[in-house]
Amino acid sequence: MASKINPHFSEELKKYGSVNFNACYNCGNCTAVCSLSTPEASFPREMVRLSALGLEEELKQSLKPWECYYCGECTTQCPQTANPGELMMSLRRWLTAKYDWTGLSGLLYRSLSLTITALLLVAAGVFFFARSTGFDAATLLHWGHLFEMMAIATVFLVIFVPNLLRMWYFSIVKNGVKAPLKSYITALSELFVQMFTQKRAKDCDEEDNFRWLEHLVLVFAYLSLLFTTVFLNWFGTENLFIILLGYLESFLVFVITIHFVSGRIKRNKALNKFSQPSDWLFVIWLLLMGLTAFMVRLFIDLQLLETNIWIHLIHLTVLAQWALIIVPFGKWTHFLYRSFGLYFARIKAMQES
Ligand code: SF4
Ligand code: SF4
Repeated sequence: MASKINPHFSEELKKYGSVNFNACYNCGNCTAVCSLSTPEASFPREMVRLSALGLEEELKQSLKPWECYYCGECTTQCPQTANPGELMMSLRRWLTAKYDWTGLSGLLYRSLSLTITALLLVAAGVFFFARSTGFDAATLLHWGHLFEMMAIATVFLVIFVPNLLRMWYFSIVKNGVKAPLKSYITALSELFVQMFTQKRAKDCDEEDNFRWLEHLVLVFAYLSLLFTTVFLNWFGTENLFIILLGYLESFLVFVITIHFVSGRIKRNKALNKFSQPSDWLFVIWLLLMGLTAFMVRLFIDLQLLETNIWIHLIHLTVLAQWALIIVPFGKWTHFLYRSFGLYFARIKAMQES
């Protein structure tokens, strides 16, 4: 069957951040420097060509954008400033929008004003809810904790499960891959290793182990802070070990994200040169999550929370915006799709070998 060409694809991709990939004259420098390139897979040139041709279906079925961790080497070496590394990033945003059955990811990626409106609406919702409780600290702590549990379950079941099924359908079923159940089970180790160690980042940027380590610590600090607040009830516990653990986790989240934000401000590396609003939102909200969670627990320990409920209100607002916008529809999803992308790629490779 002939491939369908979307003549407006480059216009569409511009809305996701990539503006100059049509300048590519196919010299192959990017493929020569990319550590993911193999004789069978020309990273990232194949994606540049498919994008330039508007072969949308092929791109939708591809898992390659998820293999790139954006070292930026290809962008640095491109004589045409076609920014192939940024193209890979934009394709990840575009794929995220394609996987999302609600269509909200695409809308928010494409429109900053809509994103700001959504953030303001959530903030207003938190404020009016808090007002309805009379700004009572104990009631807000109770509902904040309940909200976290409900948000995790709902986002997982209503957004992530169907979206991951769509990703599987595009990349496995539509690609004609017929994998037995045994392959899915055997490849599970790849899913968990990639999810919890981000091992692929080391293959992508072999020289920058610090970046990989920093990323790894952040993932662990964030996930364990989530566990500590939701399942160990950090704000409600009197267990000293859990209290100290939460302080350490939130401190790590805060410090590492400060480093990420300063890198984006200084634009000191190729990967920091083309930040989109979704990139800024992600790191800034993560930073605010670490900082405000730390402050709330500190105010509890100093017995200042009752008279300074504003700090908890700020934390609840950041938390609600994070849980309702950034996690289900923003850059947070890259963490999930990347792990599953590498898992599905492994299953595909098992059938081809
Ligand atoms: S280095 Fe630039 S011009 Fe050369 S193939 Fe890659 S994207 Fe195209
Ligand atoms: S950003 Fe790095 S890993 Fe990604 S395509 Fe470019 S050179 Fe390869």
